[in-house]
Formats: sequence, C-alpha cells, structure tokens
Amino acid sequence: MRPESGSRRAFLGWGMAGSAAAVALPASGAPGPGAEGCDETFKGKEYPVYCAHEHWGSIGPLMGPEGFRADLEAGALPSRPVSVWDLVFDPYGGGWLRSEGVDWDIPAREAGKSDFFAWWGKAPEQALASVTPALRRHRTTGVFQCTARGVELLHGERLEGLDCAAWSAADRKVGEAYGALCGWYRQAMKKASLRNLIRPVHPEYYLRGMDTPAGREEASFTRSVLRVEGFLDLWRERSPRREVLADAVGVDPVDAKSWREFIGRVLDLAARSGAVGIKQLQAYSRSLDFQPREDGAVAFRGNLDAEQRRAFEDWVVHACCAQANDRGWPFQCHVGTNNLAESSPLPLEPLARRYPRMALVQLHCWPFAKEAGYLAKVIPNMHIDACWQPILNPAFLRESLDTWLGYVPVSKLMFSNDATSVEMAAGAADITRRAVWDAVSRRGGECGLGPEAVGETVKDMFHNNAARLYGGEPV
Ligand SMILES: [Zn+2]
Repeated sequence: MRPESGSRRAFLGWGMAGSAAAVALPASGAPGPGAEGCDETFKGKEYPVYCAHEHWGSIGPLMGPEGFRADLEAGALPSRPVSVWDLVFDPYGGGWLRSEGVDWDIPAREAGKSDFFAWWGKAPEQALASVTPALRRHRTTGVFQCTARGVELLHGERLEGLDCAAWSAADRKVGEAYGALCGWYRQAMKKASLRNLIRPVHPEYYLRGMDTPAGREEASFTRSVLRVEGFLDLWRERSPRREVLADAVGVDPVDAKSWREFIGRVLDLAARSGAVGIKQLQAYSRSLDFQPREDGAVAFRGNLDAEQRRAFEDWVVHACCAQANDRGWPFQCHVGTNNLAESSPLPLEPLARRYPRMALVQLHCWPFAKEAGYLAKVIPNMHIDACWQPILNPAFLRESLDTWLGYVPVSKLMFSNDATSVEMAAGAADITRRAVWDAVSRRGGECGLGPEAVGETVKDMFHNNAARLYGGEPV
C-alpha cells in the first residue's frame, strides 16, 4: 500500500530545517513512501549521519570459522549471494527470534530441504509461510522496523506486509546490490546520507587483505576502531592468536614491558591502516570497574586463576587507555544491554579521569541513560553515542533524548547506528533523524530557540560532534 498524499507531504517537509512542516513529521512507525519517494525521504541530507560505530558485514555470507570475516580481513566479500533473509536473520534480529525459541531451519528440514535458504530458493511461499507467525510477533520491534525501513528506503520494497512478491523482489535486489559490496555501500550511503564509515575490527584485519583490490577499495571509504577485547585473552600459555600478532609486530608479550610495547606496536599497525580509536565490549562479560594494577602485581602468562585474570584484564585495559591517551584517540566502550547486572557505566568515571586526552564514548547506554548522561555532563572527556537504541526500540531513543536534552550539553551526544548491514543503518538513521529532530524541535520550542538554532543543533548531534572526535570536516 502506498502512503496517502498527506503523509507524503509531511515527508517532503522533512528536510526543511526548522520549518513547521518538519515538526509535523509522521511518527517513526508511520508508513513511508514507496520506491519513487525514496529520494524525497532522504531530503534530510543536510543532516548527514556520521557513522562512527557500524558492524556492516555481520551477516551469514560473511561468517567464517573465526567469526565475521568483515572484522578479520580487509575487503572481505560474501561467500555466497546475499539474501534479504541474511539481513533479517542477522545476529540481532535472528538472535532475538532464537531467544524466543524460533528455528527457521527446522520446518525447512521437515519439508525435505537442507536449510531455510534452500527452501526459500525452491518454494518461497511455503518458506515465508513457515516463519510468518514469528515475524508477525516481531515486526513491531525496533530491529525489524529498522531493517524493513532500510530495505524500503534503499530497495523500494516493503517487508512488513509479509507479502511473498515483495520479499522475493527485495531478495533479488539485495542479491544484486551485494554482488559489488563496496560499490553498494557507497551508493547506499549516498542515498541515505550516511557518512564517515567507521567499523570496529579485530587486530587481524590489519594483517589480511589490506593490499588486495577489495581491501584498497574498502580502505578508500572506511576507517576503523581497533577491538582491544581480544587482548584480554592472550595470557594463556598456548595462544595461536597471540603468536600470529607477536610475529607480525616483532614483540612476544611476556611481561609488563613487552606487553606495553606489543600493544603500542599493534596500535601503530592499526593506525597505519586507517584506525582512529579503540573499542571494547567487556560490558558483555564483566563489570566496567577497571582497577589500576601495579606491574608487579600482575601475572602475564600461564594458568591464571579468576582473580589473576581479572588483574591481567584490568592492566591491559589501562595499558590500552594509556596508549589512546597519548595518541588522543577515542575509546568506544559498550555500556548497558547486555549483561545488565554489570554494565552500568558509573565505574568508568575514574578511568576517564585518569586519561583525560582520551575521549571515552559510552555506546548504547540503555537502560543507563541517566547514569551515562551524568557522566557526560560532569566529565569533560566522556561522551555518548546512542547507536543501537532504535534497533532495540525506537521508544528507548525517544526516552533517552528527553532525559539528555534537558541535562547534557548537546556537544556530547552522537548518533551512529551500530547496524549489521547498510540497510539496517539506513532504517535506524531514518528513525533517529525523526526522533532527534522531533525532540530538539520540541525542547527548542520550549526554550525559545529559533528554527536556525534547532537545525544547527541537530546537525552537530548527527555529524559535527563525531567529526570533532574522529576527524572530518563539519557540515
Ligand atoms: Zn557495536
């Protein structure tokens, strides 16, 4: 179903900075325009979104034995044609379906096929019908909304009606687009007004594929942040991963001195290949209370017990932060969902104070919007990137904006997408643009800000605040 002309007019008003029409946008769940309306939807182009934290490529056809190849190898290409189902069954959407006990391969096997994708290839109506009840239950969630909206905006097909013809057409278009992955990313970024792609990658990324044509093409529009959480596991006596990295940088880390040198050299290697910061996701496995540890109180290799491991992890995180501080690099730190019991950002305060030249960017922050806001308000080098919130639930983002706008300096707020595909990023950015525009307009109205001031604030939040931290010209 195509939107009514009224809602279309509202979309047309979207890009008019500060205009009353822009404030009258449809809510983020309202129907968007069809294929012919896409460029009009992206009239918000004067508010380009700086993508400082993206996981594009975390989809099935890029999975390898060590994890997603996009994070381990420069210029990694899909090992099979990409399907629209790879975007929907991504680690977030697919993961949350599985959390509910859904396994799309079981009915496929009962139908005599090897897996869901084989079934979809042979009998799309039946394959879609088998997952329709599950998709009906999930299609109001943030992740489905973001992916479906992105597929609509970039490919012109609507998924939420669960209509087989639309899914088949989307599948064909997605497959064609991903036939030239980097070309597709660039084209989609232009269309969705997404800029400055930065992806978190493992250290191995800088050792593999950098000098291939695909690696060079990727490097022409992609920068990275180095994922340092892998270092926290390198204390084991036998560690093939450590051996490869030690060989590559010419230092085998065995004690405090060699570990510092090892980290420095891996960061140098990353910096030469486009890294602009570091990132860790310890919030998923332990608390964010990284205690400073004396060199002599840490065991660096061997059969470490839980307490020794903890000390080693703390030491490595501080060593990485010291390096980031020396280089003036940002440190992206996952905060909040998952591991809710231990992922409050409050223990990060001493870490941020100890390394004042390192911008500590709190990622996601839900459900700790107030705590994250407090830290961003009182500590000069602490910031917030609300990426992933619309993918969790657009309402979380709106609540967070209400919390932050009356409390935190707007210079501290950023809005990447943390999406697993450029489609999900386009959908998330669209939802974010509406939510931020709406919140700033409303708050600005209460504070007596004129349209121009509202527009400038939104531009800073989407782009210029991140450009100050990670580099790039303001818009
Ligand atoms: Zn992430």
